Amino acid sequence: MAIKYKELCRRCKKNYVAVTGKQRYPICYECHKSELEGEIKDPKMKKMFDIPEEFYEKNLFLRDIKIKYLEYRNLSEKQVEAFKKTVKKMKEAAK
Ligand SMILES: [Zn+2]
Repeated sequence: MAIKYKELCRRCKKNYVAVTGKQRYPICYECHKSELEGEIKDPKMKKMFDIPEEFYEKNLFLRDIKIKYLEYRNLSEKQVEAFKKTVKKMKEAAK
């Protein structure tokens, strides 16, 4: 498992964000919130991003992917796979 640690949000410098080694610019949920809102027209993508809000709250990676999609309207297959994998893991952990 990836090592998780907490880092101060780079934007507000108030909240701590759980990060894994890959994320160099951690942003907290509060700061990301407005960026996570946006209309998704592609039904496939809509379905994929339709996960409990608390998953986005807890996971910076999921937020990153959704924000990227809302910005570019395009994700690589790898990103889609990683997103689904992370959601699956979180669903299993929530059981
Ligand atoms: Zn913040």
